[in-house]
Amino acid sequence: MSYTFSRSQELFQRAQKSIAGGVNSGIRKLEVPVPVYFSHGSGANLWDADGNHYLDFQLGQGALLYGHAPAEMADALAVQARLGLHWAAQCELEIEVAERIQQMIPSAELVRFNNSATEVVLSAFRLARALTKRPLILRFEGHYHGWSDEGLTGFANPAGNWGEEESPASIHPSKGVIPEVMDKIVVAQWNDPEHLRRRVDQFRGKIAAIIFEPVLCNTSCIEPVAQLMSTIRELCDRDGMLMISDETITGLRFGAAGAQGYYGYKPDLTILGKALGGGTPFAALAGTKAAMAPIISGEVVHAGTLNANPLCLVASKWSLDQVLKLGPTHPANIQKLGNRLMKGLLDLAQEHGVPLRPQGPGLIFHTVMLKPDAPEGTVLNYRDYVRRHDAPRWANLRRCLLEEGVRAIERGLWSISLAHNEADIDETLRRAALAFRRHAA
Ligand code: PLP
Repeated sequence: MSYTFSRSQELFQRAQKSIAGGVNSGIRKLEVPVPVYFSHGSGANLWDADGNHYLDFQLGQGALLYGHAPAEMADALAVQARLGLHWAAQCELEIEVAERIQQMIPSAELVRFNNSATEVVLSAFRLARALTKRPLILRFEGHYHGWSDEGLTGFANPAGNWGEEESPASIHPSKGVIPEVMDKIVVAQWNDPEHLRRRVDQFRGKIAAIIFEPVLCNTSCIEPVAQLMSTIRELCDRDGMLMISDETITGLRFGAAGAQGYYGYKPDLTILGKALGGGTPFAALAGTKAAMAPIISGEVVHAGTLNANPLCLVASKWSLDQVLKLGPTHPANIQKLGNRLMKGLLDLAQEHGVPLRPQGPGLIFHTVMLKPDAPEGTVLNYRDYVRRHDAPRWANLRRCLLEEGVRAIERGLWSISLAHNEADIDETLRRAALAFRRHAA
């Protein structure tokens, strides 16, 4: 029997009277049949206000690499809460966290902390412009770098007015953003090194930095093609641009050195968030000494009342220690579970005649729902994804999965945590079989 959500429905009705739109981040409203209200979680498990139990692969939008409410972290937070919630000043913990990041990521010679990756991206843009004295930032279509005016320009345009394939439009999906801001962002297609060369040459001498998600996780789950990272590095070196690796999702998930360790490249600046704070509002800018120099000299302003908050630091120190302790067995362990889940979902899809195609490196993956007549094969970039992914049909399957107690990210992204085990994958596939049956009926 599938779940019902009467208490969540009731709470959502009530929320709309005091919270604008009823939710505190726009995408949460997309959950169907209703934005679900949660009560508690433990490891891979999550319970909602109706008492429904879920195997969770949404994991706080990927932040909970260590699962829900790890007991040791919770104990450490309780101790810190008694010692002090907030100082807006220095403490030894911030050095301990910074040293761990340095130890794990070769390009992280220095770090600075913030509370969200959105803020860190803005710091990176400011640094790049200060160092190069150039105005433009190059980014890729469908990559998400936070919701700021600059960070979200060129992400995706709901109106579908994307511009030519060769010169994607610099459009912000939100009203209230001035065109002068959008004009400072150059958009390129992902996964096409030759197109990237042409785009850089078109604006040569004016681009301060190239920013990217090394594995594009905000549009399907798309690994970089061979030569892409080396082309970005080469162009950045050739033209004196900064290479900014946005590892908000991939950092720690892809191993201690993140995607840059996994794929073997060295950026000038790295954005860390999500798993870095293990579920607390914590993010970091990490970079080479040369790239961070304007912050040291004070020429570039970087600030924040809640930066390096001790509760976040406690959670982060514990999180980093888990990855350090696991060594090379992480990411191999979660990748094995993820690959099994991908294969199990594909088998179920085939059994039920559903055109679902899991895609990604296993540590994290996306379930592409092919439109009728869409070609098979790996989705390569944002436009390819929009052309092939059947979003309404995926939303229906996601709803069936949710009603059987399996929770993926709304747009179809699945994250695996260190708390998931083989038995969780077995149970997920058992429940998914029920969901596929209802979806296909
Ligand atoms: N960069 C990437 C790649 C992200 O996925 C996100 C959030 O999902 C951000 C930046 C923004 O992070 P935050 O929500 O912490 O501001």
